Amino acid sequence: MKKRKGERIMKYLILVADGAADEKIEALGGKTPLETACMPNINGLAKKGLVGMVSTVPEGIAPGSDAANLSVMGYDPRVYLTGRSPLEAASIGIDMSDTDVAFRCNIVTLAGDGPYEDKIVLDHSSGDITTEEADELIRAVNEKFGNETVQFYTGVSYRHCMIVKNGETNYDLTPPHDILTKRAGDHMPKGEGSQFIADMMRESYELLSGHPVNLRRMEKGLNPANSLWIWGQGKKPALSSFYDKYKISGATISAVDLIKGIGICAGLKSVDVPGATGTIHTNFDGKGKAAIQQFKEGMDFVYLHLEAPDECSHQGDMEGKIRSLELIDEKVMGQVIDYLDHCGEDYKVLVLPDHQTPLSIRTHAGRPVPFVLYNSARPEAEDESKVFGETSGAASDLFFANGYELTDFFFCG
Ligand SMILES: [Zn+2]
Repeated sequence: MKKRKGERIMKYLILVADGAADEKIEALGGKTPLETACMPNINGLAKKGLVGMVSTVPEGIAPGSDAANLSVMGYDPRVYLTGRSPLEAASIGIDMSDTDVAFRCNIVTLAGDGPYEDKIVLDHSSGDITTEEADELIRAVNEKFGNETVQFYTGVSYRHCMIVKNGETNYDLTPPHDILTKRAGDHMPKGEGSQFIADMMRESYELLSGHPVNLRRMEKGLNPANSLWIWGQGKKPALSSFYDKYKISGATISAVDLIKGIGICAGLKSVDVPGATGTIHTNFDGKGKAAIQQFKEGMDFVYLHLEAPDECSHQGDMEGKIRSLELIDEKVMGQVIDYLDHCGEDYKVLVLPDHQTPLSIRTHAGRPVPFVLYNSARPEAEDESKVFGETSGAASDLFFANGYELTDFFFCG
C-alpha cells in the first residue's frame, strides 16, 4: 500500500483458528473450548477491540474449510466455490486446464474384515501419515490406476489429488472425516458414471493394505493408509485478485494445501514454514516468526491459518483442542502482537475460526462463529467482559451475515 502524506501505514493480520468454535460442553462446566482455553494475548485484544459473530458459510453450502476460508479471505463462496480439490491442486503446483476436474484423494484407514463395503472408516488421516510415506503410496497408486485421462499427485500427509481430463463433477461423494466409525459401504460414490471411482477405492485396498509402507506402520502400531477415499471434486476456480479488491499485498501462512491454494488463486504469496504440520505438533513458534518476517519484508497483510484445533476436533480430542488454542495464543499471537506493538505502524488484527467443528459431532457445522477485531489506531474502551468466545460474541450487537462482509469491514471499514 502506498503511503499517503501524513498517513501511518497499517499492517493487517487475520488469524484463523480452524474449527475452533464449538458448543457448550458439560465436562467443561458448561463452557466451550474457546471459553476454557487460557488466551491472554487474544483476549487482551478482545478487551480493547470489537467482538461479535459472523456467518462464514452461506446456507445451502456445506461447511467445508474451502467455503469458510474463501469467505474469510473476502470471497463469496456462492460465487467462487468450485470444490476443494482444485484449490489444493493449485497449491501443489498443478496447472489445470479448464476441462480438467480435480478430486481430493485421501489415504484413509479402513478397519475390519470382510468385503470392502463392510469395513469401517476408522481414520480419515491415517494417523497423520508423513508426506514421505504417502508419496510412496501415491506413486504406487498412480502406477496402477494412472493413464492418459487419470493422474494422481502427492500433496501433504493424507491429502492428495487426482486429476481427470475432460472429467465430470456431478457425483455425490462423501468427505471421509464426516463418516468416521461408519460403514464404508453406506457412503460409496453415487451418481451416474461414478462407478470408476468406487472401483478404484475398492481396488486400492488390495494394493495399499499389503504395501511395505503400511506393513512398517502397523509394526510400529500406527494406522495403515490402506485405502483411497475420493471426494471434493471441482474445476479450476477463477478468483478475482486480492490486490485488486483491497489494494494491499498479502501472504498466506498455512500447513494446509487448501488454504495455500485459495491464496495462490487470489494472487497472494504462499509461505512455507518448516515443521508446519496442520496438527497440534505443528511448529507454532515458526509460524509466528514467519508472520513477523513477512511484515518485516514489507507485506501489508498476513493470513495466518492454524489447523490444529480442527484436527483435534475431528479426533474427538477435547484436551488437545483446548491446548492447541493455548499454544496459538502463547506461541503465535504472543510474539506477533509484541512485534506489531513495536513496529512503529498501526495495525489491525482479526481473529476467528473459519467454522465450528463441535467435539460432539467431530465434524464441521455451519453456524455463526465468534470473532475479535482490534484496531490499534482506534481502540475501544476497555471492557473485561469481552473475550474471544461464543457467549461473548453472541452477547454483542455486531453480527455479519457473510464472512466476506466482515473482511470488507476489516480492510475498508
Ligand atoms: Zn476449517
